[in-house]
Amino acid sequence: MPLEEIGWLRRGACKSSDPELFFPLAASPVQEAQAKAVCATCQVLTECRSYALKAGETDGIWGGLTPEERRRTRFPAGWRNSAAS
Ligand code: SF4
Repeated sequence: MPLEEIGWLRRGACKSSDPELFFPLAASPVQEAQAKAVCATCQVLTECRSYALKAGETDGIWGGLTPEERRRTRFPAGWRNSAAS
């Protein structure tokens, strides 16, 4: 990913956070809530979330969403059936 495409990341509220909060070895509800609390204050949340959804990021918290939440956003229930019709 070219740096200019994620330049907004430099303005992210997480830039001074422990990376393990956003990319834990073992995710937990407490860790997710803490990371999401940081995202909730972030001025580039929209850019971050859009990037992660478009890029298909499979790991970590991006834009206040967990990998599972991003997967459900990208592929909502029934998407396969509606794509086939
Ligand atoms: S939305 Fe969250 S993960 Fe994205 S830049 Fe902001 S604080 Fe970091």
